[in-house]
Amino acid sequence: MQELKINLQNPDFVSKKSQPLGIYTNFDATPINKGLEGDSFRRAEKYVLQNTVIKLLPKERVRGCLRYRISSSDDVEVRYNSTREKAHYSNVQRCGSVWVCPVCSAQISEGRRQELKQAIKHHTATGGSVYLVTLTNPHYISDDLQGQLSSQKKALKHFMGDRKPREFLKGLGKVGHIRAMEVTYGSNGWHPHYHILYFFESPFLGGSIVLQNELGAIWQKCCVKAGLKKPSLEHGCDVRDGSYAQEYVSKWGLEDEVTKGHIKKGRKGSLTPWDLLRLAESGDDKAGRLFHVFAKSFKGKAQLRWSKGLKSLLLIEDKTDEELATETDKDSVQVNTIDIKIWKIILSCKLRSKYLECIEYDVKHDADTASDLIIQYVPVYLEKHPEELERFAETMELKNRVAELTEMSTD
Ligand SMILES: [Zn+2]
Repeated sequence: MQELKINLQNPDFVSKKSQPLGIYTNFDATPINKGLEGDSFRRAEKYVLQNTVIKLLPKERVRGCLRYRISSSDDVEVRYNSTREKAHYSNVQRCGSVWVCPVCSAQISEGRRQELKQAIKHHTATGGSVYLVTLTNPHYISDDLQGQLSSQKKALKHFMGDRKPREFLKGLGKVGHIRAMEVTYGSNGWHPHYHILYFFESPFLGGSIVLQNELGAIWQKCCVKAGLKKPSLEHGCDVRDGSYAQEYVSKWGLEDEVTKGHIKKGRKGSLTPWDLLRLAESGDDKAGRLFHVFAKSFKGKAQLRWSKGLKSLLLIEDKTDEELATETDKDSVQVNTIDIKIWKIILSCKLRSKYLECIEYDVKHDADTASDLIIQYVPVYLEKHPEELERFAETMELKNRVAELTEMSTD
């Protein structure tokens, strides 16, 4: 029997610089044997990290994301977009979790970023001004995340709802705001914080200095009212003008990018949740536990919240996270269907990313590497699931391979 050089733990994962998996006799020219680059590498990493999340959160909805079928009486479909030269699965569920699913989060974040960009562009083009306010409070390594979040929620309720800040902002011509929630983990423990984009009718005298002085003092009071330690004027409330707001938005989602090719530290040496997940994937148990705490604490929380009426004012269509996550390519065509037996091999051998890679190659080169990939992995799968041997004998395409195996086992 041919020797199989497979990383059984994680065949989805091929490091950017590593040599390819060397099992594909007919694959010499495929992208896999050249190592993954760019988008393909990022897709592979997202699938690997999703597998890690499922291990950490086996009961959450993410466990079925891009695994379970939507209609169990139909096959999984593979569709291809010839403009982007990308394949994707269809008739599979998507969890739509912006906090814990690396695959859905990337898609949702990109959609949200486009909305923010469009909103700022429209608003400033029609004479309006935008400021970015970041609110933080002092925290310690011993602070628990849930407790911090609930105190911050109280402080924020005062900050957004009390009469004084409302009248102050109204006086400056505020037309709306967008609130974003983020968290990092660093030497002082969890650091949950808020970014608020404020939209005003027009630029006003004093700009960010006026906002900083007034809102900084208001935020201090709100923190104290909510039982949080009083932040300094300088650190608690940071105000930036429109150009910085635009820069923030263009990076938004990218900072939390799940798709970095290496462990990248967040700002000031702190880690984003995706950094924690990446560390967990490489065997860091503490990082895994921290990701678990994060996931529990952020479950059900909105990542971005627009003030009432702002979306329609800035001509932004209202879409839920689920809608963005399930938004499929309208320009794609079906190129393949995957029988459940084959889908089980793909899932069990962690081939979701590699299989798409092969499909993309096959479409471009009129080849059949996707089938070859499956055939190559049948023995691996059957070693894990010997009870499936008989069932496979019914599958015509695999009949010979199975016969060969059976022969070998009776030798
Ligand atoms: Zn998902």
